[in-house]
Amino acid sequence: MANATPVRVRFCPSPTGNPHVGLVRTALFNWAYARHNEGTLVFRIEDTDAARDSEESYEQLLDSMRWLGFDWDEGPEVGGPHAPYRQSQRMDIYKDVAAKLIDGGYAYPCYCTTEELDARREAARAAGKPSGYDGHCRDLTAEQIQAYEAEGRKHIIRFRMPDEATTFTDLVRGEITVQAENVTDYGIVRANGAPLYTLVNPVDDALMEITHVLRGEDLLSSTPRQIALYKALIELGIAKGIPEFGHLPYVMGEGNKKLSKRDPQASLNLYRERGFLPEGLLNYLSLLGWSFSADQDVFSIPDMVAKFDLADVNANPARFDLKKAEAINADHIRMLDVKTFAEACEPWLRAPHANWAPEEFDEAAWQAIAPHAQTRLKVLSEITDNVDFLFRAEPVFDEPSWTKAMKEGSDALLRTARAKLDAADWTSPESLKEAVLAAGEEHGLKLGKAQAPVRVAVTGRTIGLPLFESLEILGKEKALTRIDAALAKLTA
Ligand code: GLU
Ligand code: ZN
Repeated sequence: MANATPVRVRFCPSPTGNPHVGLVRTALFNWAYARHNEGTLVFRIEDTDAARDSEESYEQLLDSMRWLGFDWDEGPEVGGPHAPYRQSQRMDIYKDVAAKLIDGGYAYPCYCTTEELDARREAARAAGKPSGYDGHCRDLTAEQIQAYEAEGRKHIIRFRMPDEATTFTDLVRGEITVQAENVTDYGIVRANGAPLYTLVNPVDDALMEITHVLRGEDLLSSTPRQIALYKALIELGIAKGIPEFGHLPYVMGEGNKKLSKRDPQASLNLYRERGFLPEGLLNYLSLLGWSFSADQDVFSIPDMVAKFDLADVNANPARFDLKKAEAINADHIRMLDVKTFAEACEPWLRAPHANWAPEEFDEAAWQAIAPHAQTRLKVLSEITDNVDFLFRAEPVFDEPSWTKAMKEGSDALLRTARAKLDAADWTSPESLKEAVLAAGEEHGLKLGKAQAPVRVAVTGRTIGLPLFESLEILGKEKALTRIDAALAKLTA
């Protein structure tokens, strides 16, 4: 699979808070592309915005990447030939490049104030002209610059866009041409000397010899600017070439609106807390803009990597569908071996939660019920409601379940069922089923209707794990006591 030139891709988020699923999808596609092509994944932290980036967000980001199962060949914690990989530690590099760009005439100081820019933009708009930067400071003379400085004006640094259209072939959307008037000279260094994303991102991509830039469609508009900057960097001997660009489609959420970072559904932590398996979530996210095959939605991540090709990435917006994500996760839960499944549930079983006290937890009962639970869960957090009946001294009746299951005649049915269960073989779920079936027959009820009151009496809920296995694991004494308690509640 090795390409002619080795593939070098990068994942370069800003560590601002809890990662969102769009970011995870971008990381996944870059990682899969690197692994598929036996290339290099560079993980770079774009933390130049001191106001928004915190050490805590950085730690969170690394923790998320590890949880998802990603590895990287260069970056935080692993180092590499282009270290450091945190932009906050590379400020001298950007200062140096900015100075070279000015010296070479590729960039210039712009002294326009916000008010002046706004006023001229308004005027251009009113005249029906393009409203981007008008090139006011492009060719200031030394005297003009001196005069501005004497006034005490501050300046930003602007990159000089060439007066020509930009054409490039996007790996996802094909050939794209942007006219010069739509991309005006843009800021690369703030008035306070802080370099901007517009500078640091392509400079690092150049220095880190990135061959493919795969990122979200929201960044498509910055590509013509970056290509122009690359050409300057090549002329200055800083860049070797221009990478290829591929823009991954938008992810649409509720109401066909772009899934926003603030959307609760977008938060990676939500999926962790609900008990998605990383491989289930990644399987689902890989389908946002890509497909494995026409008839297969569920696959392992190694299989995804083996098949991943940019040619199969679709330019159309992808729709985020939580139900589908859960269904795919459920399939991944089934794919685990029982032991791994049981271990994966531990955080929910051991957490101090309302359902049972830690000392009520029964390891043997858990091991016995785990295989039955594994076939039922969509997300691991559902485990607590499904097994709490085993650990609590008494079931807590879910009100709607009680109302639904306990109808007129339920007490008579329960009494018969109790008697037959009392006589049944409690080492055999089959025998317990026979008992409830026979009780139902006496009252003219099919198995489904006959077992509902028994289930609610014993587990507290109408829905749950297979009933007769549950009864066997709970044990005769507890089960019959609970049926007695339900009978007492019914006749009270
Ligand atoms: N730090 C940028 C972001 O998170 C990276 C954009 C890019 O991939 O070029 O939006
Ligand atoms: Zn200006």
